[in-house]
Amino acid sequence: MVPSFMRDKKSVLLVGGAGYVGSATTEQLIERGYHAVVLDNLYQGHQDAIHPAAEFIKGSISDEEFLDNLFGSREFFGAMDFAGETLIEFSMTNPNRYFQANVVDGLKLLNAMVKHGVERFVFSSTSAIYGEPQEIPMPETHQKYPGNSYGESKLIFEQILKWYHRIHNIRSVCFRYFNAAGASERFGEDHRPETHLIPLILQVALGQRNEIKIFGDDYPTKDGTCVRDYTHVYDLAQAHIAGLENADSLGHDAFNLGNGDGYTVQEVIQAARDVTGHAIPATIVPRRAGDVSRMVASSEKAKSVLGWNPKFPKIHQILETAWKWHLQNHKGYER
Ligand code: UDP
Repeated sequence: MVPSFMRDKKSVLLVGGAGYVGSATTEQLIERGYHAVVLDNLYQGHQDAIHPAAEFIKGSISDEEFLDNLFGSREFFGAMDFAGETLIEFSMTNPNRYFQANVVDGLKLLNAMVKHGVERFVFSSTSAIYGEPQEIPMPETHQKYPGNSYGESKLIFEQILKWYHRIHNIRSVCFRYFNAAGASERFGEDHRPETHLIPLILQVALGQRNEIKIFGDDYPTKDGTCVRDYTHVYDLAQAHIAGLENADSLGHDAFNLGNGDGYTVQEVIQAARDVTGHAIPATIVPRRAGDVSRMVASSEKAKSVLGWNPKFPKIHQILETAWKWHLQNHKGYER
């Protein structure tokens, strides 16, 4: 049965909708019949990652007057926030930027929502809020001692959301990503600078880099390289839509999104060799600061509460979609 709110086209605001997970979610919201309003300053997002059927507004949530005008000029069914700073390594040299973007600017967005009565919020959180894993797979109840200012900024914002629910009735659903990966036909992964394993490996396969550097092979894992839980952006986007549509009954809640299958860096490189047919030379270099040996999610809660059912749970499936996108977009979103 079509939920009552779906009978008319509802507008959803996607802050950071020109980014990686934001563009994948915009695409699926549009396919599901929503009107998507992408708000992005294009500082990290890409013009070409904005869905042609979305309404695009260039702007920043750091600008309170702009937010007031935006929320005053239209009705939103809810808002999703994909924006902010995300790189762990840089968060250890410039914490101000992380607390500013992820906490201060996020608060401006929330306050504008409160003022204009927009009461559903879906938030991009991270496994970095947990810190060093005490158990694998990690449940949502895992202890939370972030090892970097990025994780701390997201944890602070999750706690702010709890109080905005209690006091202002903003229903908020937080999704704690592990490692987002993969691509749709149209939208893929392109960060500047690129630091993520899978796009870097595929750039080697495309002949754009000579080799992939493996950051350490002396971790306590089966081949000594770090284990991560790679989750397809399509599946992340599905969860966001389920979060939005269930926000009223959830009130305030948080879910891990992962496949419960960890892959070592070596296994990801081998899977990429299988998928691309390229040799992909790799060399071992020293550990990267801030990396933990294993991060694997338990997503039992997302499955049982939201009915989340990942379509691309295996690393080969994820790499196939990412490779297809990279083959069609050699330079990413750059023209
Ligand atoms: N990694 C690597 N070489 C690279 C980039 C990443 O060995 O050039 C490793 C990194 O140490 C981590 C895993 O690949 O164990 C995933 O890293 P990524 O930066 O993609 O995501 P993160 O887990 O840091 O969020």
